[in-house]
Amino acid sequence: MEFKPVIGLEIHIELKTNSKMFCGCSARHFGEEPNTHCCPVCLGLPGALPFPNKKAIEWTIRLGLVLNCQVSEESKFDRKNYFYPDLPKGYQISQYDQPFCREGKVTLKDGREIRLRRVHLEEDTGKLVHLRIDGQDASLVDFNRSGVPLVEVVTEPDFQNSEEVDEFLKSLQRTVRYLDVSDADMEKGSMRLEPNISLQLPGQNELPDYKVEVKNINSFRFVRKAIEYEIARQTGVLQKGEKLIQETRGWSESENKTFSQREKEEAHDYRYFPEPDIPPLSFGPEEVEEIRQQIPELPEAKRQRFQREFKLSPYQTDRLIETKELADYYEAALGVNGQIDGKKYSSPSEVANWLINRKIDIKTISPERMIKDLIASKEVTRLGEGEMSRIVNEVLAENAQAAEDYKKGKTAVLGFLIGQVVKKIGPQADRQEITRKLQEKLG
Ligand code: ADP
Ligand code: MG
Ligand code: ZN
Repeated sequence: MEFKPVIGLEIHIELKTNSKMFCGCSARHFGEEPNTHCCPVCLGLPGALPFPNKKAIEWTIRLGLVLNCQVSEESKFDRKNYFYPDLPKGYQISQYDQPFCREGKVTLKDGREIRLRRVHLEEDTGKLVHLRIDGQDASLVDFNRSGVPLVEVVTEPDFQNSEEVDEFLKSLQRTVRYLDVSDADMEKGSMRLEPNISLQLPGQNELPDYKVEVKNINSFRFVRKAIEYEIARQTGVLQKGEKLIQETRGWSESENKTFSQREKEEAHDYRYFPEPDIPPLSFGPEEVEEIRQQIPELPEAKRQRFQREFKLSPYQTDRLIETKELADYYEAALGVNGQIDGKKYSSPSEVANWLINRKIDIKTISPERMIKDLIASKEVTRLGEGEMSRIVNEVLAENAQAAEDYKKGKTAVLGFLIGQVVKKIGPQADRQEITRKLQEKLG
């Protein structure tokens, strides 16, 4: 029997604001001395009052706008109540029924549309560190991460397979990096992924009445594997005529499989209620427009502009827009290229190839240096008169017919003959010199 996968995603993205979500503590927590970025607010001490981070809210809306969401005119924060040692308040400040952004959509390469349910803002929790102290198991809590702004993006269950999920996640990662709102670095935990997977029976149109959520995955590859594992596992269960249960599972890297963690709690278990210490927030059309103005040129727009302005191939463009830093570097290099030689000694395409094929380290080599190297490399293969003459004669001998054609007035074969000479000398051959020599010999 063929079952149809139904997949939705929840993605957490840590914002790289200087300070935390509701206090002035530094939000930088990775690799820092434990419990050095804390205050009464992010430690959840009684009586401490939260004060929202304006920049974090604007960045969340910026991301929402890019994902084509509606910005809610009225938003508020809510308390999500649960107990865990990394959450000293006993609740997380999150957003429940009035998130900053909702109802977005993005289009995949194959034209299929994925709807976004919401983009909301919450606070990250502390971090548990499990270790052995004096021969005993111990768990310590580091609160440096407690209260760091965390955006949650929730999609509708519109994905049909792991490739679509992969494409969406990579594009989302690139987008938040272009927006400069997060490192979205999975190894550091600043982007965390949770796929929800269920299977539709043949002929079934409504959503399955269960879903399996796989928690906190930290690599794109593991998301693909977890989804594929779940599709196989759930197919097996259904084929035996059994029912699947709604549950939360974890991903085991060592065993390459998911494992049951708990049967899923429902929203009402969290006893959400409005955060009484933060008044509701409202965003009018003008404020939203102001935030929209801050959105920089994004990968898709850059791709189109590069192809149009610089006549690059889709491959070259794809590679250059991989990161904003690389795309900016390329444009800086083109600027230098224009200055060094008004005649644009190297074409935009040559500069692109040099940058891509030579794997130029853009952190250590300046655009000026790169362009100088590129020009120098061409000069290296400027041959002496004798050597050039010999190679051109060789090519004319091997291509006597083409040479004849040229003499009879079919000058279009010149391009072909130049190509043959370049083949012998190498890609950095001086084409002007070759052309001159060929024309001289063909008289
Ligand atoms: P909860 O309230 O339990 O978090 P939601 O309905 O809000 O559940 O959905 C959470 C995520 O699960 C969303 O990404 C959504 O797209 C996805 N989802 C919902 N129903 C299904 C389903 N039947 N199969 C797979 N994913 C689903
Ligand atoms: Mg959820
Ligand atoms: Zn603090």
